[in-house]
Amino acid sequence: MSKRITLPKYSVGVGDRFAHQARAQLSACIRAGDAGVEVAPVWNKSNREHTIIGTDPNQTRAAADAAVKALGWDEPYFVDADHITLKTVERFLEPCNFFTLDVAEEIGKPAQPSEVDAFLSQHPELIGEVRIPRIAEPFKTDTTLVRGVANKFLAAVKDAGKIYRLLVERKGEGTFVPEISMDETDAPQTPVELLIILAAIADEKIPIQTIAPKFTGRFNKGVDYLGDVAQFTKEFEEDLAAIDFAIKHYGLPENLKLSVHSGSDKFSIYRPIHEAMVKFGAGVHVKTAGTTWLEEIIGLAEAGGNGLEIAKEVYREAYAHAEELCKPYTTVIDIDYAKLPAPAVVDTWTSEQFTSALRHDQRNAAYNPSLRQLLHVGFKVAAKMGDRYLDALDANEEIVARNVTTNLFERHIRPIFIGC
Ligand SMILES: [Zn+2]
Repeated sequence: MSKRITLPKYSVGVGDRFAHQARAQLSACIRAGDAGVEVAPVWNKSNREHTIIGTDPNQTRAAADAAVKALGWDEPYFVDADHITLKTVERFLEPCNFFTLDVAEEIGKPAQPSEVDAFLSQHPELIGEVRIPRIAEPFKTDTTLVRGVANKFLAAVKDAGKIYRLLVERKGEGTFVPEISMDETDAPQTPVELLIILAAIADEKIPIQTIAPKFTGRFNKGVDYLGDVAQFTKEFEEDLAAIDFAIKHYGLPENLKLSVHSGSDKFSIYRPIHEAMVKFGAGVHVKTAGTTWLEEIIGLAEAGGNGLEIAKEVYREAYAHAEELCKPYTTVIDIDYAKLPAPAVVDTWTSEQFTSALRHDQRNAAYNPSLRQLLHVGFKVAAKMGDRYLDALDANEEIVARNVTTNLFERHIRPIFIGC
């Protein structure tokens, strides 16, 4: 019997929409290792992205395996079936060893009253004052609150149990990392809600290694965090405390940790996240995805010539189809349409003008978050270009890879995991 697959303390989710950047992404993890910090790569791609681009999870697996082989990586790495449900899991079963069980749709569907009653009588420790080490104020709850939370989340947890058991049946116990995600919902979960949810997950016997709550504030795609950083910091630390408590009291896996979805480019909360991890001795999983695709466009623009032409064409088409492209992402983007330059203007841009507008450098006055968000959701345009886009990536491989690796290491891995 082989050992249970375990996600290391620090891990980074990377998205590789066109399966061309796995080596450049892995290079960022190698640089982390050179700096003395082990950060495991997890290639994540949701069913939605595969569908939009017309790819298959086997391609993600093949690209990851090829990169690992080429660069001689002998540490753990994972391929994540990101946000799967019972309906979409099938084609991910074989190639993936990490499964993000998405229960957002079930949240709020009322649970069976008998199940809610049973949960309450099994968990008297959750009612009243819940004292947690390293948190100054105990969580204060009462029966009404716990009943309300159980009623809101039990059906979702039971649903996760169904997906988990299907995975065990088809793949074998301990052969994959299970995560539960609740980030794609309307309301954030408070730390005390998280604790109650973890108790329910333990009751359902799902040995999750990561959990992705919806945090306070906005996590828009490809741009910085929008919200109250002090409030985020407080809740993040309380979430870590809740996880500590749940590991000790409910027997959830020792390496259970938070997963931050839409985690790329949230520069203003990386320091609080790093400091909280140090304070609690905790790990974290940070999912990034589209930030790599944007670095492809930046690299092409920087290359000039045909690369710059392709970047401009992607913008022109994204601008023309903005409404359609933004539709699946309305809750995670905030574009100010008045700030989008006309394609005719962008057509006159130099490489430097294009990369200055797009690259996430808040010190650059030309940086344009609306343009960045539009291009973030614009990968469908590149998918439609087919080989013309992929050939441009191949022709400019080095300059694109340099941007991908630098972005991932300098702007993400370094502040989050290394802390400088
Ligand atoms: Zn997510």
